[in-house]
Amino acid sequence: MRTVYLNGQFVAEDAAQVSIFDRGLLFADAVYEVCSVIDGRIIDYAAHMMRLERSLAEMTIDYDCSAADWPGILATLIERNGLTEGTIYMQISRGAADRDFLFPAPGTPATVFAFTQARSLVANPMAERGMRIITRPDRRWGRRDIKTVQLLYASMMKMEARAAGVDDVWLVEGDVITEGSSQNACIITPQGHLVTRDLGHHILPGVTRLSLIDIARESGITVEERPFTIAEAQGAAEAFVTSASMFVMPVVEIDGLSVGDGRPGVETMALRKAYIDHARAQG
Ligand code: PLP
Repeated sequence: MRTVYLNGQFVAEDAAQVSIFDRGLLFADAVYEVCSVIDGRIIDYAAHMMRLERSLAEMTIDYDCSAADWPGILATLIERNGLTEGTIYMQISRGAADRDFLFPAPGTPATVFAFTQARSLVANPMAERGMRIITRPDRRWGRRDIKTVQLLYASMMKMEARAAGVDDVWLVEGDVITEGSSQNACIITPQGHLVTRDLGHHILPGVTRLSLIDIARESGITVEERPFTIAEAQGAAEAFVTSASMFVMPVVEIDGLSVGDGRPGVETMALRKAYIDHARAQG
């Protein structure tokens, strides 16, 4: 049984309990982060904590990340659970208060928890075969740049992908791709440029996306942050997604049409390797 962290305590997972009045439960009034762990070490920690602090500020959740020893909490979870490879989930809600749409009085303590999930990330069979995806309308709220726990639409889209016999969904506004249901979407143009959606309220600023843009630029690849359509993605040389748990994952089919030769792209796989090297080098 795992040890999890809840409100300052390390407890067995079946002993961790939160109030039914928690605003995370009643209003999805909570933000979260997912970091990956390789060789027992957290990847891109500083960028994840920076985004968490930004999400808290945008939601005006009164919680000071520096008030807790997050590096110590995460190190303890990794150690007690013997985690060598997998993810760490952290969530902070506005806390528990009698049900009211209005936020509770200042001083209501936030509900804070974290847990580990052991899984194989580097040796993912999907990287060998590539993902097949379908596109669906992006019907999420207008502040997708904040990492809130309102994930119902993404969850429904993943079920729709499963029912359609494919791996995931890319979300679109009109015919322009915003991002994957839980990843950022990228393509490599026939000219060899990496294209990914520009930042704004319409997408989550992915930590992996950010690291990968640096890695790509360092290796001489031109990066264009701009909108792209379903048709441009289908006609691209290569396509892939980025996320903390998938790193760089090739996409080989979009709405039934093969991307490139229908196999994971050479550039994509080189970027996947470069990202994993970058992760391992962090120590
Ligand atoms: N976009 C969405 C909607 C996500 O949920 C995620 C990750 O969960 C990402 C993008 C990728 O972000 P990151 O690379 O920080 O994991």
